[in-house]
Amino acid sequence: MDDKIKFFHWPQEVEIPKEFHSIDEMGEFTTCCMCEKKVKESGEPYLIERSFKRVNESYENVLFEYAICFDCARKMNEAMSKESMAKLETYFSQYLTGERQRMKLEESQNDSMAWFNHCMVKGTAREDIFEYNICGLFRGDKMLLGEFPYLLSLEAMEEITELLSAETKDELDDFRRNHLGGPPEFEELLKGRPVFIF
Ligand SMILES: [Zn+2]
Repeated sequence: MDDKIKFFHWPQEVEIPKEFHSIDEMGEFTTCCMCEKKVKESGEPYLIERSFKRVNESYENVLFEYAICFDCARKMNEAMSKESMAKLETYFSQYLTGERQRMKLEESQNDSMAWFNHCMVKGTAREDIFEYNICGLFRGDKMLLGEFPYLLSLEAMEEITELLSAETKDELDDFRRNHLGGPPEFEELLKGRPVFIF
């Protein structure tokens, strides 16, 4: 197996949940937002992130969404400042412990969507969160369970934003402006907000 993807292990594969379908593509994502590689056909792992804002009980706006191949995700990570990356690693290491992962996997035996029921960091129930992002790892037409998927509440994202250097925030704003699907009216709202917490 390729070195760069050895880190991930995927004990289980499930159908791609509707939450990870694309509005723009009217179904499953097919294409990397940066290099336009056909990620679904490629047989290689790829990542999807989508961001939601709840308007009322039955309606949520999608603020942005994208699929990205591993090569492009790595390039983005390399472009982030070392300082920001180190802080993010420390932040997430509190939450991504082996014990938590084991519990997540056990939970998913019965319900692969159980992981979306609360914020990975804060533990807040999804119904009490008005803005959140979900991230997942995929191969072909399957979602892979392991470190992914997860849900992050706005509260957690605001803490993460505090950790990022100005340079990294600019980098992410550029990425969002140039590559992501989503209505332009949300651009101001999303400014400085982290994307891509891999
Ligand atoms: Zn790509």
